[in-house]
Amino acid sequence: MKTIGLIGGMSWESTVLYYQIMNREVARRLGGLNSALINVVSLNFADIAERQRKDDWHGMGEILVDAACCLKQGGADCVLIGTNTMHKLAPEVEAAIGVPLLHIADITATAILAKGIARVGLLGTRFTMEQTFYVDRLASHGVECVVPTASQRIEVHRIIFEELCKGEISDTSRQTLQTICVDLFTHGAAGIVLGCTELPLIIKQDDVALPLFDTTTLHALAAVDFALDSK
Ligand code: GLU
Repeated sequence: MKTIGLIGGMSWESTVLYYQIMNREVARRLGGLNSALINVVSLNFADIAERQRKDDWHGMGEILVDAACCLKQGGADCVLIGTNTMHKLAPEVEAAIGVPLLHIADITATAILAKGIARVGLLGTRFTMEQTFYVDRLASHGVECVVPTASQRIEVHRIIFEELCKGEISDTSRQTLQTICVDLFTHGAAGIVLGCTELPLIIKQDDVALPLFDTTTLHALAAVDFALDSK
């Protein structure tokens, strides 16, 4: 089994999900007491969130590259950035490490296309919904994104940073997200991408009529595929 390297802590609430999904999947596939080989570097999210607010992507690039190198030196055979937003820096990280970077948007696009869907609604931080790095990556696979309105984007971003990243799950926020999903459907979305790794804490498949693409689970399962692939 290969070792999975995870840059986590963004926020740690979703790193817990990654850790649980990867270990449970290895146990499911191999049986017994088997668990995943995982190296984690868990960052302080207060520092990252502050740098995001200040637009210090250069500084965050250095932090991610350091973390990825640490994982590689510790024996990681691949690296995961455990957040959609920070995939803005995926090219820098990929260029600096000599092991595969499993890109969350590539994995998500593959899952979307496998369901025969070409147009999805995208929920995530304002960086993920408004900048080009994520939408363009999905588009490079032939997946088109519909994003919420400006006021809805502010609210989704607020729910992520003020509630989910602090482990707060509110019924009111769930209803807000459900309403936004219905709006995205009326604008042509045939599926919903939970393009923030904390969103599966609040929205489950039973909460929405459209097929849901949970990027945390898809990313974690792809890492297990990589780790157990004997090639
Ligand atoms: N985990 C979130 C994401 O998937 C948001 C935290 C961040 O800004 O990195 O985008």
